[in-house]
Amino acid sequence: MIDKKIKLGISTCLLGENVRYDGGHKLDRFLTDTLGQYVQYVPVCPEVECGLPVPRESMRLEGNPDSPQLITSRTKQDMTDRMAHWAKRRVVEIEGEDLCGFIFKSDSPSSGMERVRVYNEKGMPVKKGVGIFARMFMEHFPLLPVEDEGRLHDPELRDNFIERIFTLMRWREVITKKESRGNVVDFHAKHKLLILSHSPKHYQTMGKLVARAKDLPLKEFYWQYQTLLMESLKLNATPKKNANVLQHMMGYFKEQLSADEKKELLEVIEVYRKCHTPLIVPITLVQHYVRKYDQSYLKEQIYLNPHPLELQLRNHV
Ligand code: SF4
Repeated sequence: MIDKKIKLGISTCLLGENVRYDGGHKLDRFLTDTLGQYVQYVPVCPEVECGLPVPRESMRLEGNPDSPQLITSRTKQDMTDRMAHWAKRRVVEIEGEDLCGFIFKSDSPSSGMERVRVYNEKGMPVKKGVGIFARMFMEHFPLLPVEDEGRLHDPELRDNFIERIFTLMRWREVITKKESRGNVVDFHAKHKLLILSHSPKHYQTMGKLVARAKDLPLKEFYWQYQTLLMESLKLNATPKKNANVLQHMMGYFKEQLSADEKKELLEVIEVYRKCHTPLIVPITLVQHYVRKYDQSYLKEQIYLNPHPLELQLRNHV
């Protein structure tokens, strides 16, 4: 079980620091008070760190949405090179922080990770841009989980992000140990059902990769496994995929269940699949049978034994 805090990068203004152009902040209580109990934040404010004052003139993205310029709104100064020059150095510095993810401030021309307004020459915005720093960060760390505070208000996206950062943390513990195929195989064995709940396709591919681990150079095996792991968790675990995992688990103790128990469990899974109850309901019943019938393989599954914070997440419909 994880005992040290997960390190996450975060846009500084989300922590309540007065770094915004107008001297204000964008404190997000879920991030500071709830998630903050489990993580250690590494704050980054691109605009202040690249040398701009507080308060300052507001900025916006202009031009081609794929490679926009960062322009001050009133005096029309181009800040793109200044920001890009600083960001190039900063992302290399951040490598040393061992981050498990980053939470960006939405809609910001510097920090927004998607759908940031980009203005054309007629002054009309399209919501297709990425903030200058956010883009460079994501290009530098393509596998790191990233979200913005707006998207994290959606329970499904929040669950997914938190599962990803905790899984990455557990994976980092594997890679700090001496390299061995056995360590990856152990990790995979415990995460199989979690992976299945996100992507049946990756579950298959990763199973095959692990089976032919001996045929690959060790570094290549680690790299391929890590890439597939992060790719799989990027895909959201939906009620349909979770119901599939729950039924799969039922197969492990089906023979021991009475007809009534079987019927009840199938009903509970079905009610969940139709989104009438939260995931925690069928999970709790499955956990009960896993204990009752002492199912050793399932007992080890992270899917059934996540971190307490991950567990709380399964409470929404
Ligand atoms: S959105 Fe980004 S650049 Fe703007 S104040 Fe927040 S951290 Fe700084």
